[in-house]
Amino acid sequence: MDACRRLEEVKEKIIKACERSQRKPEDVLLLGASKGVQPAKIREYYQCGLTVLGENRVQEFLRKYEELKDLHIDWHFIGRLQSNKVKYVMDKVSLIHSLDRESLAHEINKRAQVLGKVQEVLIEVNVGNEESKGGLKMEDLLSFYERALTFKNLKVVGLMCVPPYKEEPNQVKPYFEKLRKLKEKLEWEFSVKLKHLSMGMSHDFEVAIQEGATIVRIGTLLFGKRA
Ligand SMILES: *Cc1c(COP(=O)(O)O)cnc(C)c1O
Repeated sequence: MDACRRLEEVKEKIIKACERSQRKPEDVLLLGASKGVQPAKIREYYQCGLTVLGENRVQEFLRKYEELKDLHIDWHFIGRLQSNKVKYVMDKVSLIHSLDRESLAHEINKRAQVLGKVQEVLIEVNVGNEESKGGLKMEDLLSFYERALTFKNLKVVGLMCVPPYKEEPNQVKPYFEKLRKLKEKLEWEFSVKLKHLSMGMSHDFEVAIQEGATIVRIGTLLFGKRA
C-alpha cells in the first residue's frame, strides 16, 4: 500500500474515534513515530501531508534531520533522553515528550537559556509502575511539576505515557484515564491549563482518543513493521 493511502486510512480512523467521543479531529495531532524508518520513506509521507514526526534515538535523529533539512518537518523527541545529548536536539525539536527527572529538566533549561528559547516539554509518567520503563513515578508528579515551574526556560505543556502492552486495547484504557486525571489534578492544584496528553500508539490510539489524547504517536500502522 502506498504512503498516501496509509496516511489517509490512519487519519480516517482518528476522525472516526473523535466522532465516537464527540471530539474535534483538529484537537488530535497525528505524530509519525519514525524510528527505524528510512529518510526516503519519510519524504514520501511528508509529501502526502505528514509533517509532525517523533524520533527516539539521538544519533538516528541527527542523521535524519540533516538528510531531511530541506523539508519543513516539525520534529519532536519522544524517546529516553540522556542529559549529555540534550545539547544536540534542543535547537531542532519543538517538543520533548520524555522529561522524567530533575537532572534532565536542569540540563534542558540550561541549554534553552543558551539558545534564548523556552523549550516546551511533556512530563512522561510511568503509569504502569514498570521497572523497565522510563517516566516519573506517579506519586512524584506534583512535587516535580512544582519544581519544574521554577525553571524559566522550560515550559511543561502536558503529560505523556507509554502504558504496559495489553493484547486487548480496552485494557489499556485505565492507564490513559489515569494520565488524564493526573493532568486534571495538576491543572486544579496549580490553576494552570495544560495543553497536551500525548498517549496512544498504533495498537491503542482509538482508546486513547476516547480518554482525551491530544497527540497520538503512531509508528507501525503508518509505516509498516520495523526491520
Ligand atoms: C515506537 C514508539 C511509538 C509508536 O509505536 P507503534 O506501536 O509502532 O505505533 C510511540 N511512542 C514511542 C515513545 C515509541 O517509542
